Amino acid sequence: MNSITNILAAQRAFYQSQKTKDVAFRLSLLKALKKEIVSKEKVILEALYKDFRKSEFEGYISEYGLVLSELNLAIKNLKKWAKPKRIKPSILTFPSTDYIYKEPYGSVLVIAPWNYPFLLALDPLIMAIAAGNTVVLKPSELTQHTSKVLTEIIKNVFPENLAVSIEGGIPVSTMLLEQKWDYIFFTGSTRVGKIVALAAAKHLTPVTLELGGKSPCIIDDTVNLKLIARRLVWGKLLNGGQTCIAPDYVIVKSDIKDELIDVLKKEIIRRYGKNQSESPDFPRIINKKNFLRLKALLENTTIAFGGEINENENYISPTIIYEPSLESNVMAEEIFGPILPILTYKTVEDINTIINSFDKPLSFYMFSENKSFINQIINTYNFGGGVINDLLIHFGNHRLPFGGVGASGMGKYHGKHGFDTFTNEKPIMKRGNWFDPSLRYAPYKGKMSLLKKVFKYFA
Ligand code: NAD
Repeated sequence: MNSITNILAAQRAFYQSQKTKDVAFRLSLLKALKKEIVSKEKVILEALYKDFRKSEFEGYISEYGLVLSELNLAIKNLKKWAKPKRIKPSILTFPSTDYIYKEPYGSVLVIAPWNYPFLLALDPLIMAIAAGNTVVLKPSELTQHTSKVLTEIIKNVFPENLAVSIEGGIPVSTMLLEQKWDYIFFTGSTRVGKIVALAAAKHLTPVTLELGGKSPCIIDDTVNLKLIARRLVWGKLLNGGQTCIAPDYVIVKSDIKDELIDVLKKEIIRRYGKNQSESPDFPRIINKKNFLRLKALLENTTIAFGGEINENENYISPTIIYEPSLESNVMAEEIFGPILPILTYKTVEDINTIINSFDKPLSFYMFSENKSFINQIINTYNFGGGVINDLLIHFGNHRLPFGGVGASGMGKYHGKHGFDTFTNEKPIMKRGNWFDPSLRYAPYKGKMSLLKKVFKYFA
């Protein structure tokens, strides 16, 4: 493979050739990508299984299927999205016709994480290409099977001077970040997000940072606990709990805590059996480093359920932790695994104390039938996005912008929001020449009162 600087130079030259501005060309690329992905369905799902025993079903529902629907959406709407948008003119600039032109940024760098390695690499790539950019993708080094398939797919569809996947770990990522890009889209940890933001700042490159955090889940006593248990066990244990928007911990009304733990235990057994390590549906922790990190989080905690580990397999069973203190290790960082701490509250002040001791989370969940309590909570806290009475599924509506705030990230994407992320909105005013009032031209003497009237009535 060519060196990074050569690839970037070739991509810049291709961008400058104006070829990517042709919407029909972009459409043909997206259609070719779809064909390639459809032809590789089995290989993709197998790669996900090989990487961390992610089941075929979870691979489809949370990666392959979502990528296909994002592709279909882009193919269906691209012509409409890419067209200059006519904007209502202002009387102050009369006569004019005003537009927003949709301009690609140019050379885009996408850095992807391992936890949804197919989805989080291709979703941004699809929208970057749809918007007319060239792309260098750096997939995660921790999911080597999936990253290899991604590289092959991109190679089969795109010439290297338009889109390419460059595999590698931190050294490759660092080299990529040293280059001057027109846009950087990063998904990963808050820690590395700061490294990316620093690198981008050097060149004043705009960034989207899709990061993580401790996403809370509040449960009050107005709810049907059996239904909650189904949704909570699903939302926490999908992908083995290695989901950026997984509920990190629960804050439940103290008098129903025991009942909640009881229904959660039953639900885990119902879904994954008495020995969850034998379930074909329960994934493993991605690597030894993360396994050991999670194992350490379990130390000095009171385990209400689970806590079984198997180091040979990087296996940690679904685990419920009983009322850890806010100072404990398990509450100190994003858990990112199948461990669910249950905290309790009696008053809204208790909730405040807990939530305010963490950075602004990526997601926020609440189970309640109490409308005023729900509205109070939604309006009180800053967070990236949320769901009332379910978990994770806000990710599935492409009409909702997805992203974090503060330490959980900046910028949003999904569907048209993704297209807009990779698009510079270029305002253009086309001025009429048939009318040219003299008010704005010097000499200004005697024009002040007319100017004030114009602003009073028309601005
Ligand atoms: P990570 O930050 O360790 O790695 C992400 C990417 O950055 C990888 O491609 C990696 O090679 C690269 N990288 C790692 N260290 C680097 C360094 N020092 N310099 C330059 N590049 C570096 O994250 P991860 O472990 O792959 O993913 C887990 C994290 O991602 C969690 O915090 C999770 O919440 C977050 N996440 C967020 C979203 C979201 O949409 N907001 C989605 C998935 C994961």
